[in-house]
This record gives sequence, structure tokens and C-alpha cells, in this order.
Amino acid sequence: MKQIATDIVIVGAGLAGLYTALNIDPKYRVDIVVKESITNANSSLAQGGIAGELDFIQENLDEHIEDTLKAGSYLNNKDAVTVLVTEASANIKRLMSYKVAFDRDSDGNILLTKEGGHSSRRILHSGGDATGKDIMEALKTECLTRKNLFFHEGTMAIELIHDKKTCYGVSCLDESDETLHFLAQDTVLATGGIGNIYGSTTNSTVATADAIGMAYRAGVNIEKMEFIQFHPTAFHNEISLHRQKFLISEAVRGEGAYLVNSEGDRFMHKYSPLLELAPRDTVSQAIYREMYDTWTDHVYLDTRHLDQEYLKNRFPTIYNHLRAEGITMGKDLISVSPVQHFNVGGITADLFGKTNMENLYANGECASNGVHGANRLASNSLLECIVFGNRIAQDINNQIFEKKIYESNIKQYNSYKYNYKPMKKKLGMLMDEYVGIVRSEEGLLFAKNELIKMLSNLKKYPNNSKHYYEALNMVQTATLIVESALARKESIGCHYRIN
Ligand SMILES: Cc1cc2nc3c(=O)[nH]c(=O)nc-3n(C[C@H](O)[C@H](O)[C@H](O)COP(=O)(O)OP(=O)(O)OC[C@H]3O[C@@H](n4cnc5c(N)ncnc54)[C@H](O)[C@@H]3O)c2cc1C
Repeated sequence: MKQIATDIVIVGAGLAGLYTALNIDPKYRVDIVVKESITNANSSLAQGGIAGELDFIQENLDEHIEDTLKAGSYLNNKDAVTVLVTEASANIKRLMSYKVAFDRDSDGNILLTKEGGHSSRRILHSGGDATGKDIMEALKTECLTRKNLFFHEGTMAIELIHDKKTCYGVSCLDESDETLHFLAQDTVLATGGIGNIYGSTTNSTVATADAIGMAYRAGVNIEKMEFIQFHPTAFHNEISLHRQKFLISEAVRGEGAYLVNSEGDRFMHKYSPLLELAPRDTVSQAIYREMYDTWTDHVYLDTRHLDQEYLKNRFPTIYNHLRAEGITMGKDLISVSPVQHFNVGGITADLFGKTNMENLYANGECASNGVHGANRLASNSLLECIVFGNRIAQDINNQIFEKKIYESNIKQYNSYKYNYKPMKKKLGMLMDEYVGIVRSEEGLLFAKNELIKMLSNLKKYPNNSKHYYEALNMVQTATLIVESALARKESIGCHYRIN
């Protein structure tokens, strides 16, 4: 077993991990562990953009706050939302200082778009629909200039090193499944989403709920797990067996695309006065209903009334992806269906990203700091990563560092070959069927019983391998989702109960 003593260890190198790392005082050593490569993250997939009011016009800030609260059905923490909105400008400008080139018009003015639930155009984008990729590339380049940052790609965190109240670092498996302990003054969890728990998701393959699983096993508080956001418009490909589905950004509807059902009729007027730009829960639930009523598994996004050249330039990633599928934006209907997209709840964190365990922080999609309430407003999550990443870094920078020596008491199991794929597949089917957009008590109880069996099997045969820990984290987190969904009997936000 190898051991590295450091000041701060960050688990994950998406936007939440990288931005936190960049804002930590360079006098501290920061080790960043990354399960695969830096670019394989949900952050790199973000298309639509990043929300934020750049000018301090109180009326505009209030409107962004109100839109966020409304999308979250007012279950948000208003203080967290105020922080998110008021600190957006400074942090987005810092992204620009890291050479993120947001799209501008010919006079140099930043171009802004609109997505579901936003009352005005306040979303910045880059490369048309390549916002996440461009931000991640700029931040990665900036990180590589910093001498205090040490990256460990191909290294998966598996357990927190902790006693009853304090975290001392994290235990990992390196590229050859050898154990590697990082002992640190502070640990930041930033492992992103949970998408692969479901059979269909927009998430990257690395989104397997690892931080939530680890934190849960260490006794750290987890909350609001019933709130899973389903994106209304993932590309529906009849023959694809991939769990990861290609996203057709909400910004396409922001630029005027309609939704039509399998009979060619527009339907959003039946569900919301905001039509196609209603919040995501409303649109996903409306599509679910239309699919049910028309006996099909998809609806269509209609861009045929929009200018083909404009669409090609505004959405180059989406345009090219669809071309490869034989579909031309502006000419053909695009088949879409809702799939798992975003984990609204997560590890309970305060306004400085602190969890209830000392020296342990959580940021990004794995954290729940109260900004999203019962549902996330589109394009607020990239913003969350940077605003709270900066706050975590400032909190760490203000600490007095004392070197703590701690011998890890993490149990080390034998490692053996075992194929966890069938279990993951079964889990995906179970979650899609019983813990999806529409939930019932009977379905949730059935899922719970199945999950209990899976979990007991996993616990009976522990295995010191990455595949084992991924399966364990996924099943454990799925159980948390089901338990929270059972406990919340009313329909609110993206949690919809029929009984
Ligand atoms: C297709 C798509 C489009 C989106 N579009 C937008 C958008 O336009 N605007 C917006 O605001 N939001 C958007 N989102 C949501 C947003 O991208 C994410 O919520 C956000 O990027 C999450 O950032 P993160 O750093 O928390 O996680 P990620 O970017 O997913 O990074 C997680 C990191 O943790 C690492 N990791 C995971 N487990 C471990 C482990 N056990 N050990 C070590 N490392 C680990 C991963 O390798 C990765 O580096 C979109 C999401 C998707 C999937």
C-alpha cells in the first residue's frame, strides 16, 4: 500500500474539482484524483451554457433568484440561491481570465441565450453548443501551469479515511488496482452525478455516484435524493444499446424549436403557459403523458420552421451529431425522449461547501447546498460548481494548517475477477421502470426489495476492485433515492407520485 501526504486532496476533475483547485492558495499542495481522464466528465458535455447576470442590476439579480426558486418549487435555501446569483459575475469573469472565450457578436458583446424557466436571456455559451468542452479545456490548460497541483488520472477514490467526526483523506485504487492513500488536511468531494444508476442517461460513463456512496458509508449526511431531473429531449435512437444518450440542448427550444407528438401535434399548451420553455419537470412529465396517450416511446423536436444555416452555426455539435445519424436540423423531425440527467440532491453542504464531517467538503453535482430545491433551473449547475468552488477554496485558504498524522483503518479486501455488468444492467432497468418520471408506492417498494437483495450480495462478497466499488456506490445510492422517494408522498418539482 502506497501513501501520499498532502495538504488538500480533491476527488474529481470536472468543473467543480478544477475550479476549486485553481482558487486554493498556491502555497498549498493539492492532489487531484481522477477516475479516468480529466476530460471524461459531465462538465465537458455541457452544451447550453452557464447562467449568470454579469451586471449588478438589482432587478435582474432578483429575477434570476426568483426563477431559481420557482424552478425549485421554493424548496431551495434562499440564502444559497442569493449567493449563487450575486457571486455569479465575479466567478464568470474569473473564467474569462482563464481564457474561456464566451461567444460574442461582431461588436464584441457577449451573446446570451434563454432556456426553460428563465424569464430573460442570461445564459452565456461558448463554441455555440460546446460550452462545457471549452470551459474544461481552458481550465485544464490553466491547471497545468500551476506547480502546486498534482493530477492522478486513472485513480479511483473508494473510501474516506475518517474517524467519527473528522476526515483525514481518501483511500484510492490506482491504475493497477493497487491501494493508494492520500492523507490530507482537507478533502473535497467533487465526483459529479449518478446517471449510470439509470438505464438511460445523458451522463458520462464516470457518473456512478461514488462520492455519495463513500460519504454515506462514512456517516456523512445525504439529502433530497428523491429529486432526479429527467431531461426532456435526449436523442431517441431505436437501435442504440448505449446507456449514455446524446442530449439535444434546451437552448434549441430556446431558439424556437417546438415539441410535437407522434401524431404531429404540438402539445405543450395543454401543460404550461410557458409552452416548450416550461421548467424541465413540467416538460418531461408532459412528454411522458403524450407518449402514454399515443402508445409510443418518443416524441419529436420540430426545427423545420427555423433557418438551417443558423442552426448549423448556433449548434455545431448537435448539428453534426444528428447529421451522422442521418437527420438534418431545420429539415427533419428529431425523435427525442426524456432520460435521467441531473442529481438535484446529494451530500449535505453549507454555504462554504462544508459537510457535517470536519475537514470534508462537497462541491458540484454530488453536493446539495440548497440552490436547486426540488428541481434545478437550466444552466445553474455549471454556475454552482464555480461559485461554491471559490467559496470552498476561500474557506480552506483562511484555515490554519496543522499536519495531522492518521493511520488509516480502511479494511483491505482481496481482489478477484467478477463481472458486475449484469447487476448494473438490472439496476438500470429497475430504476427506469419504478423510480423514473412517474412513481408509485407499489413500484418503489418493489424496487426497494430488489435493491436490498443486490446490496446484501455485494456486502457478502467484498472485492478490492474499481468495478466492485462502482457497483456498491450505485446500488447504495439507488437505495437512498428509493427511500427518499417513498418518504416524500406529495408530487413536487421533479418528484412525481401517482400514489
Ligand atoms: C449532456 C449534459 C449537458 C449538460 N448541460 C449543461 C449546461 O448547459 N449547463 C449547466 O449548467 N449544466 C449542464 N449540465 C450539468 C453539468 O454539466 C454538471 O452538473 C456539472 O458539470 C457537474 O460538474 P462536476 O464537476 O460536479 O462533475 P463532473 O463534471 O461529472 O466531474 C466529475 C469528476 O469526478 C471524477 N470521479 C468520479 N468518481 C470518481 C472517483 N471515485 N474517484 C476519482 N474521481 C472520480 C470523474 O472522473 C470526473 O473527473 C449538463 C450535463 C450533461 C450530462
